[in-house]
Amino acid sequence: MVSFIQMYGGLSVYRDGDNNNEYYIAAKEKTSPLCDDFDLDYFCSLKNEKVLKLSAKAFLATEQRIPGLGNGVLQDILFTARIHPKRKIADISDDEFKKLYGALKSVLKKMTENNGRDTEKDLFGRSGSYITMFSKNSLLTPCPICGGNKLKENYLGGSIYYCERCQKL
Ligand SMILES: [Zn+2]
Repeated sequence: MVSFIQMYGGLSVYRDGDNNNEYYIAAKEKTSPLCDDFDLDYFCSLKNEKVLKLSAKAFLATEQRIPGLGNGVLQDILFTARIHPKRKIADISDDEFKKLYGALKSVLKKMTENNGRDTEKDLFGRSGSYITMFSKNSLLTPCPICGGNKLKENYLGGSIYYCERCQKL
């Protein structure tokens, strides 16, 4: 087996049942957003009392609530749904929440079909062919919808990229 680590990471080997790491368990047990089982009903079931006070970023990309959904894929999902990363879940309407679900499914599908994002490389050093709209690669290009400047900020342990005109707080 050949493995590469970039940015941060680790490799461990366990016997079946011995690994109690919560990320590993979540990834194995929770429904992947790429599966058909991850439908609108399932997505809506993730919205409960406990998450109402969380921001959109915290809801989508922390605590392995949605396995594999991290900061890298978050930016284009939130932009597609026109939701500011800091908007509170409690302030997001049912219609917007549905739109967020649609954005999550469609953006992840496009990223997967294109062998990943242009910001990342595969094992052979080839960049993905999904062109990110909001990332370090595209920060200086104008917003594809309004033509305004994109913003970058540090928030919850990572950079957020957004358009303040299209994604109102
Ligand atoms: Zn915009």
